[in-house]
Amino acid sequence: STALEELIVPPVQIAYTQNLIDGKFVDAASGKTFPTYDPRTGEVIAHVAEGDAEDVNRAVAAARKAFDEGPWPKMTPYERSRILLRFADLVEKHSDELAALETWNNGKLHEQAAKAELPLLIRLFHYYAGWADKIHGLTVPADGNHHVQTLHEPIGVAGQIIPWNFPLLMFAWKVGPALACGNTIVLKTAEQTPLTALYVAKLFHEAGLPPGVLNVVSGFGPTAGAALASHMDVDKIAFTGSTDTGKVVLELAAKSNLKPVTLELGGKSPFIVCEDADIDHAVELAHFALFFNQGQCCCAGSRTFVHERVYDEFLEKAKARALRRVVGDPFKKGVEQGPQIDSEQFEKVLRYIRSGIESNATLECGGDRLGKKGYFIQPTVFSNVTDDMLIAKDEIFGPVQSILKFKDLDEVIRRANATRYGLAAGVFTKNIDTANTLTRALRAGTVWVNCFDVFDAAIPFGGYKMSGIGREKGIYSLHNYLQIAHRAQFVIMQWN
Ligand code: ADP
Repeated sequence: STALEELIVPPVQIAYTQNLIDGKFVDAASGKTFPTYDPRTGEVIAHVAEGDAEDVNRAVAAARKAFDEGPWPKMTPYERSRILLRFADLVEKHSDELAALETWNNGKLHEQAAKAELPLLIRLFHYYAGWADKIHGLTVPADGNHHVQTLHEPIGVAGQIIPWNFPLLMFAWKVGPALACGNTIVLKTAEQTPLTALYVAKLFHEAGLPPGVLNVVSGFGPTAGAALASHMDVDKIAFTGSTDTGKVVLELAAKSNLKPVTLELGGKSPFIVCEDADIDHAVELAHFALFFNQGQCCCAGSRTFVHERVYDEFLEKAKARALRRVVGDPFKKGVEQGPQIDSEQFEKVLRYIRSGIESNATLECGGDRLGKKGYFIQPTVFSNVTDDMLIAKDEIFGPVQSILKFKDLDEVIRRANATRYGLAAGVFTKNIDTANTLTRALRAGTVWVNCFDVFDAAIPFGGYKMSGIGREKGIYSLHNYLQIAHRAQFVIMQWN
């Protein structure tokens, strides 16, 4: 289905396009700008200050000063908590503009931005506001006459590099825990989606965040991103993006000042439908697991493994479901799929579709672009996919479902794990023994049973193997932004 005629005019103005450094919106040091687009049409919607190494230097200097001289790290944790809560309230107040801006710049469904992503962002800041005044060390019973305590101190200036698929949520996952721990930040947004982070960073200052604590630089990876990752005055780097770029970031960190690095990278997550599963439910969730957000999810269930006894029924229903999927203007109600983010991703997904056809997978439906402008792709389903095909090995990051057949549990465990990735997995069964076996055997940071894409501020997220290093969200993310120090004092006992 399509709904591509007469695009809706986004109900929002673009107010902020400059870099936000030391509490002020400023042009790039070079004076340069770069265009940002509406993926529905490929048309330019704004020109944004193009930060590079010099802007990153200025932002890091501001963050350094705000960390070393205060007031942020010296505020009481409760005062910091109050600012996070006030920020969450302001985001709530401006949710309509933010959801519209997110859809305009990214192409994701407006309903999804408004009803899922903004509430998740607000919830995350409430969650980390709750942690701000509960971060503390221990008193340690060491041998000998020593009084030993541990201190959990902020790590300093955090560099954060985020991708374009969930611009606001990735902002939240990075900024929430870093600020709760008392750090200062330089955040580089993805070049495709610079707009919403600037908007929310402005709201943070209205909420009382001191200047220099949160600096946002727009710009490209090899210039601004690389400058941040290799900066000698940045104390920690957190990155979300592709595995290839994650390797570069880790290398830049190692070659400069050995700043610790957390990485949230790609995936090729299995979605396993066992013979006893409720097929209609499994079809719907497998569809959601892959097609959600135009397939642009690092944890997308991109290898749909189906037991041979239910394979034919599943395939027929999965194909029918994909054919019913409504593609169109993401601002319109009832639309289920918007455009891919940009021409590069659009071409890449179409290349993978051609590769699937050439490697003799069966193209069940889709396989081409939709419409003449913008980056819309038909919901595509391949059956008879085998493990050696590129479409079964690489992260496609688009609306392309690959269905694979399996015979028994041992086989599917082996095949599901035979990947360089290990971000997530889905398991569909009514048998508790099967569920327990699979949840223990699958080498992935997340395993969802009879559900998929369940996200919560309190639940940790991150990958095994080449899907990343470290965990974000929950209590675990705090450790990424803290130094654990110990202080030992010799004590002379005056009594016996
Ligand atoms: P994608 O291929 O999906 O665009 P990337 O991993 O290249 O994903 O991008 C994720 C983020 O990493 C973006 O903010 C991008 O600008 C940044 N980035 C890209 N290349 C580099 C690099 N060499 N150094 C640091 N950051 C980079």
